[in-house]
Amino acid sequence: MQFDIHCLSTRWKNPTSPTRTESLGYRTPSAAEVSCLLIWDYYVTMPMPASTFTLAVGRWRRATADPPAASGGGGASPASERAAAVDDGVCCSHGDYPCRFNERLAWTQRVVPHRVFAPACLLRKAQLGVLALLPRCLEAAHAVLGVHPFPRLDVLIVPAGFSSLGMASPHIIFLSQSVLDDGGGADRSLLGSRLCHELAHSWFGLAIGARDWSEEWISEGFATYLEDVIWAHAQQLHPVEMEEQCQMKALLRWRRLSDELQHSQEELQILRPNMEKTGEVSACGSSLVKHALNPDKTFMQVHYLKGYFLLTFLASEVGERAFVRFFRLFVMKYHGRLILSQDFLQMLLSTFPDMARYV
Ligand SMILES: [Zn+2]
Ligand SMILES: [Zn+2]
Repeated sequence: MQFDIHCLSTRWKNPTSPTRTESLGYRTPSAAEVSCLLIWDYYVTMPMPASTFTLAVGRWRRATADPPAASGGGGASPASERAAAVDDGVCCSHGDYPCRFNERLAWTQRVVPHRVFAPACLLRKAQLGVLALLPRCLEAAHAVLGVHPFPRLDVLIVPAGFSSLGMASPHIIFLSQSVLDDGGGADRSLLGSRLCHELAHSWFGLAIGARDWSEEWISEGFATYLEDVIWAHAQQLHPVEMEEQCQMKALLRWRRLSDELQHSQEELQILRPNMEKTGEVSACGSSLVKHALNPDKTFMQVHYLKGYFLLTFLASEVGERAFVRFFRLFVMKYHGRLILSQDFLQMLLSTFPDMARYV
């Protein structure tokens, strides 16, 4: 599949040209803009799951209120941090595409340029909630996982009827209006967690994808685990508070998973992290998509939750700090590639040999 965001990205870089939102709709577009609307030539050289193809049709406006400055600033990382990151040994083993992991300047961006778009009726909520929170979450994601894999980000608020609370694609996140708050902070947890979940997909789900989509946990399990880590960082929680928050979420997720295991088909529950048939890829190189047409699969959380509990268990064994550091090394090695569970498990075992006792 090839798709190209050249037209949109060019507009993004040039503030004097019509913005993407304008061309999408709330005023009459010019002839030049109409032609831009009708001819989209999408092309990407970075291998990613086909699920990342994204198209939005509707009317949005850009939220423009100045967000509060992110704590610690959104500018350059300290030189020591950049040096350490590069010293960690970035190894690009992917095909040819403009990769940020080897760009020293990319390491200087704790907060990548970002915009938020919402329908007019939700613009204030988007301003007070998403736009205010986004820089903090971007900065936290950078602190946890390192360089942002993509140079910019748009967040698009979509109707409550959207089939999930959020969806991440390169350069754009769809966020359901169901997670919006009024900016008061009382119910900010849902919005913050979801934002952090979708941001985590920049690393796990986009920069690294599952080669076999029946191993969806490589995307969703990781994002579910990392949303807690990133959101706790964004809130600057005391370690005790962070532990309490994470345990409460774990309890709620355990109840959800237990309920799902009791009421769904067993074949839909299989995570397959290290079984003999893990990673079935056809002779032509295409990966399997199991149960793609099964409507029950759409509503299941099992890959999110089993993956989350597996990663939570591993973190408890090796220590969360060491585990997150391992994530950064893993990303540096495997970014730009589609992987199997074994790739993760083998690197885990070579990094933490003591874990072999569970094999
Ligand atoms: Zn690379
Ligand atoms: Zn997700």
